[in-house]
Amino acid sequence: MQKYRNQIITSFVGYSGSGKTTFIEKLIKELKSRGRSVAVIKHDAHKFDIDKEGKDTFRYKQAGAGFVSIFSKNNYAVVSSYGTEKIGLAKLDELINMAEGSDVVIVEGCRESSIPKIGVSRVATGKGLSVDVKNLAALITDDDNLKHPVRFGFDDEKAVADWLLDESFAESGSNDDFSRGVSVEKAFEIIESIPLEPETEYVDINEAFGRVSAENCLSEMDFPPFRRSPLDGYAFNHEDTKGADREHPVTFKIVEEIPAGKSPEHALKKGEAAKILTGAPLPENADVVEKFEVCTVKDDLLTITREYEADTNVVPIGEDYHKGELLIEKGNRIGPFEAGLLAMLGYASVNVYRKPVAAVLSTGSELVDADEPELPNGKIRNSSIYTIGAMAEEAGAKAVNYGIVSDDEKEIAKAIIKASGTSDIVFTTGGVSVGDYDLVISALKMIGAEILFWKVSMKPGMAFVAAVYNGRPVIGLSGNPSAAAMSMTMFGKTLIRRLEGVCRPLPVISKMKLGEDIKKKSPGGRFIRGRVIIENGEAIFLPNKIAGNGTTKANAKSDSVGIIKPGQQPLAGELIEVIYERQL
Ligand code: AMP
Ligand code: MG
Repeated sequence: MQKYRNQIITSFVGYSGSGKTTFIEKLIKELKSRGRSVAVIKHDAHKFDIDKEGKDTFRYKQAGAGFVSIFSKNNYAVVSSYGTEKIGLAKLDELINMAEGSDVVIVEGCRESSIPKIGVSRVATGKGLSVDVKNLAALITDDDNLKHPVRFGFDDEKAVADWLLDESFAESGSNDDFSRGVSVEKAFEIIESIPLEPETEYVDINEAFGRVSAENCLSEMDFPPFRRSPLDGYAFNHEDTKGADREHPVTFKIVEEIPAGKSPEHALKKGEAAKILTGAPLPENADVVEKFEVCTVKDDLLTITREYEADTNVVPIGEDYHKGELLIEKGNRIGPFEAGLLAMLGYASVNVYRKPVAAVLSTGSELVDADEPELPNGKIRNSSIYTIGAMAEEAGAKAVNYGIVSDDEKEIAKAIIKASGTSDIVFTTGGVSVGDYDLVISALKMIGAEILFWKVSMKPGMAFVAAVYNGRPVIGLSGNPSAAAMSMTMFGKTLIRRLEGVCRPLPVISKMKLGEDIKKKSPGGRFIRGRVIIENGEAIFLPNKIAGNGTTKANAKSDSVGIIKPGQQPLAGELIEVIYERQL
């Protein structure tokens, strides 16, 4: 949730009797058992008594909360681990400030606040939800009619704790927008609708492979352009074989030898044949080719002992392509076959979209480039810039490394302006979650970029911003290398393909059997890197082991991404959606 001095802050909202207090109590115990300190701030519309046995605040304290406070319009009190204090008036913000040392701050009530909310609703209260379900980050309910992508039951405190503590989720909060961001579908919709006008250019056929055709390429000729022989043998006319059999053989005079590439010199007359090789044009008047192996030849005489029909073993003109036929559709990539096809049909140069230039820059004062000899304490090497650059190139761009920018919004703003001046798309890493040093958003605002959306409801890769500056997309990726790479697989590469003019730019998803049970329930869904293996001729997706949110091990030796849908926990053998990204 909201990262606020490394704290996770959430608020439970629901009518009285919905079971908030009991659930929070269980959640506190669960969080405590995981070594997290918890603060609870309860809002009460009425007068209250603090620290009385049986009262909610007392129960929270008993459950292990290190800091409990209750407040209303008139007064508030703090119960810290050092005893009870009663202090004058305070606002929610001030109470949150006072809970500074706690890892998790749970607010009860305060449905007007912008803190991400977990709605609680119990059928028995007969009242439903106190907040519109659209404005909830998660839902706890026993009501089957209430739907939410992040939905828990009343006994799911472990799953709620998993969800709250998930770092990629924690990163995603923001000071002025606490929602979980747009859905993956919505993000694709926006990414697909950014107006882009890729330029075109003619390239030599030698450079065409991998580029995207900027026009419908039509065949300018028939292929093959002449009647040709599909085999090595003899060519003659079928009329001359009428009535031929073993008893009545016919004999032809071999008048010419036609190897591939030679234009025949003789039009065949009655009783004449030509020796012909595979791919060679048939002489005039020939309409049959018979292979060497079944022909009887002595000196320059060919003997035939059966009748033939016209056009036996003859490849007609235009068997493969007719003049005017569509060879490559505009927006299709020129692969090996297309490259050959274009050449086959006379394209010495091709009209393609210009290869987009992708600028990549990394923000983070902790970063040191790979070629710096020293790695001072507290610093890490900038790895993401290389991964993101490579992924941009994988998708078809030319990537340019713009290096490291310190955590300074003016510096970041300058770097974005500079990078976008010489590229078609800018990728930044770091600084798009919420924290004191997350400055890409403010830099984008500073330069007047149009922010299309910030944060996507996906894990990993929630911290993400899509913006447009000077007509060019600026994509802010998470600093977390795995999260940044996942955003690239999904949105970054899609945008590059769009810049390349690809007509179907979205990642290709297919279904495969899952190779192992998914151990963890993911209420919000999850994207998992893994490998496709072939077992008994069947493609199986094997998820790589994830060591932790900040780790990158799961990326190594992965060729694909498995998609776990919200709330699902598929078992081995079940079909799941997979993006197959590269052959290892
Ligand atoms: P940020 O999104 O900037 O808050 O960074 C999240 C985490 O990723 C932090 O642990 C950073 O140190 C780390 N990180 C940020 N940028 C990079 C990078 N370019 N390469 C490797 N790790 C990074
Ligand atoms: Mg950073």
